[in-house]
Amino acid sequence: MSKVKKIFLHEKDMPTQWYNITADMPNKPLPPLHPGTKQPIGPEMLAPLFPMELIKQEVTSERWIDIPEEVQDLYKLWRPTPLHRAYNLEKALDTPAKIYYKNESVSPAGSHKPNTAIPQAYYNYKEGVKHITTETGAGQWGSALSFACQHFGIDLKVFMVKVSYFQKPYRKMMMNTWGAEVIPSPSNLTEAGRKILAEHPDSPGSLGIAISEAVEMAAKDENTKYSLGSVLNHVLLHQTIIGLESIKQMEIAENYPDIVIGCFGGGSNFAGISFPFLRHNFVDGKKTRVIAAEPASCPKLTRGQFQYDFGDTAGYTPLIPMYTLGHNFVPDNIHAGGLRYHGAGAIVSQLLKDKLMEAQSVKQLETFEAGVLFANTEGIIPAPESTHAIAVAIREALKAKKEGTAKTILFNLSGHGFIDMAAYDQYFAGKLQDHEVTDLEIKESLAQLEKVM
Ligand SMILES: *Cc1c(COP(=O)(O)O)cnc(C)c1O
Repeated sequence: MSKVKKIFLHEKDMPTQWYNITADMPNKPLPPLHPGTKQPIGPEMLAPLFPMELIKQEVTSERWIDIPEEVQDLYKLWRPTPLHRAYNLEKALDTPAKIYYKNESVSPAGSHKPNTAIPQAYYNYKEGVKHITTETGAGQWGSALSFACQHFGIDLKVFMVKVSYFQKPYRKMMMNTWGAEVIPSPSNLTEAGRKILAEHPDSPGSLGIAISEAVEMAAKDENTKYSLGSVLNHVLLHQTIIGLESIKQMEIAENYPDIVIGCFGGGSNFAGISFPFLRHNFVDGKKTRVIAAEPASCPKLTRGQFQYDFGDTAGYTPLIPMYTLGHNFVPDNIHAGGLRYHGAGAIVSQLLKDKLMEAQSVKQLETFEAGVLFANTEGIIPAPESTHAIAVAIREALKAKKEGTAKTILFNLSGHGFIDMAAYDQYFAGKLQDHEVTDLEIKESLAQLEKVM
């Protein structure tokens, strides 16, 4: 009998609700605080930036949230996504482990990001919003939101980290194709941008700076809202469609994962694949290990500190309880641009603190080695971000081989790397390096943070 390599769900079996993990967490995440008063913030502080429905989702303790019909309809342009069994990778590793991956690379933008871009644009549209600002690192989020905004007739301005703006021109062109305006950040359109440029005219930019610019522009104009592609609770919520589909597909495969892995930038694709399985841990006594894979050059989960910090560089956002390297931390310029963020969201940080999940860091060369092996066995060229998840899946599969256990491993392929081929080119030319942060750099960045608090 030939082996089943892909497990599809019919469109009618696509989940119709998202899963809110805070309903089942033993310890709830701590509330965000007002930076001035240090008191928990109310909805009125978020109202200038987000539509009311998303603010409600940010704080709700309801377990299941209905996915609006219009959102389900757009999801169906590419969802449900396939679940693959990576037989060729298993063979290359000569492992008894069974490796599965959820393929989020098949979306219009090529990553999991449209799963939240579409509902975010939709709720803004429902509340009459006509203008949105956002930031983007490598361009994945900006392109996903451009696609979603043009569908709902919303005008979008994207602040794109300057180094990526020049390194990844095709992402900018994608955003333009979907009707968005793209501005290299830091820019002179905002105070936050002008301040950075005055001090560092050659600043390559960072996600934290770009967030400051987008937030400032939205806060100053009552007709403009802001949208964030990761970190926040409502973003993680929308991504749970990944894990909810995976549960159904693993059932069809008559298997259940011992280990679930996602790469980690702000935590959204990791949460998406893992939270529905964590629910089984909390409610049904399952013992699935859940692992976040982060870059060694930006190791907030494995080497950061759990404390309140800002979500952006300029300090405009509320204080969020997070594992952080400090909001002024500027990670080395690795190619996994989507993983260069200084902190983790409130939910993931609480889960890690409570030891309900694990984290591993991976150096850049190991991730590209894993990405090339994956491309040569399974055929898909992964995004540099996703190669972190693949690298940890390979580590665990080799561990299973050593122990002689037939573990079942599931990882999320968060995106494809077609627009990141220059990174692969540099890897093949031997030009990529491992960047590991020193203890001193982390200590100094966190000391700066303590001065602000
Ligand atoms: C943005 C991005 C990530 C990182 O973001 P998370 O919110 O941590 O998921 C990972 N992979 C890809 C392909 C991305 O575009």
